[in-house]
Amino acid sequence: MNTVSADPQLAEPYLLGWLASLGLDVEYVRAEGNTLYYLGENGEEIPVLDFAGGYGSLILGHNHPEIVAHAQQLIGSQTPVHAQFSRHPYANDVAVALNRILRRELGTEENYSAIFANTGAEAVEAAVKHAELDRGLRLAALREELAENLAAARDAVAGGARVAPEAYRLVGVEEREGADGFEALVAEIERRNAEQTGRPPVLLTLEGGFHGKLVGSVQLTHNEGYRTPFAALATPSRFVPAGNAPALKAVLENERATVFDLVVEDGTVSVTERNSPVFCAFVLEPIQGEGGIRVLSEEFAQEIQRACAEVDCPIIIDEVQSGMGRSGDFLASSALGLRGDYYALAKSLGGGIAKTSVMLTRQSRYRSEFELVHSSTFAKDAFSCLISQKVLEMLEADDGAAYRAVRDRGAKLMDMLAGVRADFPDVVKDVRGRGLMLGLEFHDQSGSGSEAIRESAPLLGYTVAGYLMREHRIRTFPTASAVNTLRFEPSLYLTDAEIDRLEQGLRAVCGLFRTHDGAGLTGT
Ligand code: PMP
Repeated sequence: MNTVSADPQLAEPYLLGWLASLGLDVEYVRAEGNTLYYLGENGEEIPVLDFAGGYGSLILGHNHPEIVAHAQQLIGSQTPVHAQFSRHPYANDVAVALNRILRRELGTEENYSAIFANTGAEAVEAAVKHAELDRGLRLAALREELAENLAAARDAVAGGARVAPEAYRLVGVEEREGADGFEALVAEIERRNAEQTGRPPVLLTLEGGFHGKLVGSVQLTHNEGYRTPFAALATPSRFVPAGNAPALKAVLENERATVFDLVVEDGTVSVTERNSPVFCAFVLEPIQGEGGIRVLSEEFAQEIQRACAEVDCPIIIDEVQSGMGRSGDFLASSALGLRGDYYALAKSLGGGIAKTSVMLTRQSRYRSEFELVHSSTFAKDAFSCLISQKVLEMLEADDGAAYRAVRDRGAKLMDMLAGVRADFPDVVKDVRGRGLMLGLEFHDQSGSGSEAIRESAPLLGYTVAGYLMREHRIRTFPTASAVNTLRFEPSLYLTDAEIDRLEQGLRAVCGLFRTHDGAGLTGT
């Protein structure tokens, strides 16, 4: 039963209308664990089994009693929530706790510095901003070094040093004797270097990736519908097909920037070619969430690691959806042997209650100047940090019992999905994922014998979501950029009975597709 209001609908009524057309415009009034409740005709609570899991923000479920009690205690004791520009020991506590986990998973002694933010997209953009600040500072240092070396070479030529003939050939300038010849060489070097060091930053990312919808991050998000209307507002990304090592190499080679440097040795001036820091960052998800629950292969992850190290391109690992234990490890990327220069964490960091995110930068790359140029009114607040600290304690308790639970429950859920696929190979194209970040992809239904199913094919997952809600009271959604894939991201408290209920729902859907029962699917 939804509340019917006489007020004008001013908060995204178009979206609401669209949800209503699929039977998904439910008003929830209470939530706990993996269950959301709405009110029936007589005001009774009707439970809905939630596999959307706040799209990944609910690894500990809705309103976990320990987190709720902690939040109540924080508010009840008048904790100062907004005290910007003061000491924030609670923020440091979260950073220390995160570093303890990263040291364990990455096997490194190097610390990561934390910049807090509010949302996943903001953490990604903070990482990109930091990488660009760092790139600018590296460029400035390079320009300074080039100028110093040029001055030293000019002095040497004035003192009688010769210019190596290969220098002219390398730069593409006609060889000439004396100071005039040297100055002509220098003029071309300076022109070329200014052009190369002035090139816009190159941002690399993977096809199918999703990194948020803000002005900057949406240009890293592959989905054209989200990205292209805003393409003129920010730097476009270079999209690399996941798993394609030759394409990765080609992009890095094509985008590389180099400068000419002058070296004086034994009375001879020669020219060398050096890399210029044109690469801002490679941004990637270890498990693509909105792209259809696709796990990056270990092999390709290593390829990216090697290739980026070669050209000194920092790696930003977006663990907004896959992190915080969802994959069965704290970081999904650590299981791939991938190590980031930056990490973005959000979603479950707030325990399903606080809105918070964090960007971590490895200290060998960290620029403390960043602290003066990036901030937000709401970031690093006491309430969010103290909730995050509690979440991390809960995940880490009993020697990682939470991660073991994710693996155990994930394996059970995956077994069930694989069983459905085995029985309906004509309907289910694939099941994939890790831990409790799983997806089930349906075959395209645009050739179905049912007109209703054919018509629903472009937004298939939403139609299935509407059916599961209507007939089975199960909530799940397709991933944002791959709508034939349903996502399952429940909490680690998922029970066998809840898995059984999902199985019944999925088997029923598959039966409808197999029998071309459009009326059954759409309820019309
Ligand atoms: N990165 C990834 C991998 C995500 O899955 C999401 C959200 N689905 C974001 C970034 C953006 O996070 P937010 O919605 O909190 O801005």
